[in-house]
Amino acid sequence: MSLCDIESEQISSNDIPLGLLMANHDVVVIGSGAGGAMSAHILCAAGLNVLMLEAGREYDPVAETPMFQTPADAPLRGAPTPDKDKGFYWAVVDGGYTVTDIPYTQGGEVDFKWFRTRMLGGRTNHWGRWTPRFGPYDFKGKSRDGLGEDWPVSYEDMARWYDDTETLVGVYGANTELENHPPSAPGVLHAPPAPRVYELFVKAACEELGLPIIPARRAVLTRPIDERNACFYATDCMRGCSIGAAFQTTTSLIPWARRTGRLTVQTRAQVTNLKLDKSGRPVGVRYIDLSNGQEQIVISRVVVLAASACETARILLNSRDEGSPNGAANSSGQVGKNLLDNPQSQAVTAYFPKLDGRPNYNEFGAGNAHLYAPWGGHDAQARGELDFPRGYQFMFWGGRQTPEMGLAGVADTVDGYGAPLRAAIKQRYGSMIKFVGQGEMLPSSQCYADLDPERRDRWGMPALRFHWKWANSDIAMANHMRKTMDKIIDRLGGSRVSELREGEAFLTEPGTCIHEVGTARMGPDPRQSVVNEYGQAWDAPNLFLMDGSVFPSSPCKNPTLTIMALAMRNSRYLASEIKAGRL
Ligand SMILES: Cc1cc2nc3c(=O)[nH]c(=O)nc-3n(C[C@H](O)[C@H](O)[C@H](O)COP(=O)(O)OP(=O)(O)OC[C@H]3O[C@@H](n4cnc5c(N)ncnc54)[C@H](O)[C@@H]3O)c2cc1C
Ligand code: SF4
Repeated sequence: MSLCDIESEQISSNDIPLGLLMANHDVVVIGSGAGGAMSAHILCAAGLNVLMLEAGREYDPVAETPMFQTPADAPLRGAPTPDKDKGFYWAVVDGGYTVTDIPYTQGGEVDFKWFRTRMLGGRTNHWGRWTPRFGPYDFKGKSRDGLGEDWPVSYEDMARWYDDTETLVGVYGANTELENHPPSAPGVLHAPPAPRVYELFVKAACEELGLPIIPARRAVLTRPIDERNACFYATDCMRGCSIGAAFQTTTSLIPWARRTGRLTVQTRAQVTNLKLDKSGRPVGVRYIDLSNGQEQIVISRVVVLAASACETARILLNSRDEGSPNGAANSSGQVGKNLLDNPQSQAVTAYFPKLDGRPNYNEFGAGNAHLYAPWGGHDAQARGELDFPRGYQFMFWGGRQTPEMGLAGVADTVDGYGAPLRAAIKQRYGSMIKFVGQGEMLPSSQCYADLDPERRDRWGMPALRFHWKWANSDIAMANHMRKTMDKIIDRLGGSRVSELREGEAFLTEPGTCIHEVGTARMGPDPRQSVVNEYGQAWDAPNLFLMDGSVFPSSPCKNPTLTIMALAMRNSRYLASEIKAGRL
């Protein structure tokens, strides 16, 4: 059946569309971030026509990045302002923990903070680009400790997709022998940048304490690929990267897909719900054209939903229709459930007198860490020495980069005024190191999102309501993170600058790790999961989810490489299904 054969009567909703678009596309992709853009790229490369609906505006990553501004050019020297809550220069057009006209609400014990970015490319314009692979244990946690859920795919299933994604995206890092940290295929990784002084300093303590410490893996090129340049080690990647060295979809996947001539991007298209036929299959997508506030419905044979985990759940839950009273793809009742983030520790900053007044070495670098400390407690866990399951990693930052980073905390350690104060600050510039732990949590019936029965956004779509409660094991893990940081700081003769919080308060608010996943998990059983191993909805074979919503667990490793590897794999499957005439 061709798209134009789909009759508008098949839309069972009573809504009368103001605009009914019957464009020449095979697939509608919702969202242009990590998942949506990867899907569009693969589908276009396979010869399919794609219409991408993106709520944010068009973004020019070359003309618009504030890569080279100095702190003096910004209000408050670049510190966060109310409309730029992660820093003035970050490449966030409309977003942060507040998005204009789209509120969210709280229904649980602890408030969840939801970071959204409404712009072409989504959060990939300013993410940290940390891209560790999940390992064999991460996909099969339940088989190892009986907790949570296994993924329906194994590491062996995913290995080649990780290789292909890393090759396409460009990732620096190094293969190690570390347990549950599988290597990339030979030649895939770019050479990691040399560690900086403060990183070697922490490394020495970790090695003495028997803690693993290895080169970070980040989606940053250290050798050029085609038109993308290698990193020149001088700017802050969160501002965006106009030379294409730091991966963002606006300098790679989206322009590549556009170049095929098969991608149409409709920006400022705020999707509200899917239009379902009587069997629950989507036949169209309803959106608000934010340029004029008009409602539009676009007919589609296949829908890829990649609006980011929580917005994907909101759209599914809001796609209620006669045959699907609980929303699209939700016969299991699992949409919105199993919301996960990485429990993240308070940032602990410490001052290290041994680094005072040292000479400059290689202070610059690839805009973020070159080394980090992955989880290495598997043996201690197996011996029953730990009071929490799974694990955590920790990252640390310091050095003499921009004053925003290098001077963090210095003011709290010096006193006085005038020339002696300036001399003391210079002396300590580069003697501060900040540590942050990031762990795995288990899915919990206390952590989920649903639609607020009363609050709506500007266009009448129900707000998402969050429910959250930390588990005892999350708090036990937080205590362990704190002890580990203490050991390292003490070993290096440091003194804490941060006022440390205790127990649950040592964790930052849920959502603030900005690794929210879950909400529409994949699994082998349609009664317990929303999609199959290809992200294909059990209830609607022409609906695919290609973002973190499908994760059954949240390993302590950052999620986006796995979002992209799954989107690559599952989009190839989708393309083959369309070509075989099954969709
Ligand atoms: C500051 C920061 C640092 C981070 N660092 C890392 C890191 O180092 N490593 C890592 O793995 N992850 C990191 N993340 C998380 C990472 O950005 C996300 O995991 C990733 O971007 C998710 O991809 P996505 O495609 O699901 O969503 P997004 O990238 O958020 O893209 C979703 C897109 O959908 C659009 N959209 C939303 N709602 C609608 C709608 N209703 N209609 C139409 N379009 C819609 C949005 O505008 C957006 O463009 C970080 C995030 C932030 C904010
Ligand atoms: S540090 Fe490198 S990767 Fe990061 S923004 Fe600058 S040039 Fe790009």
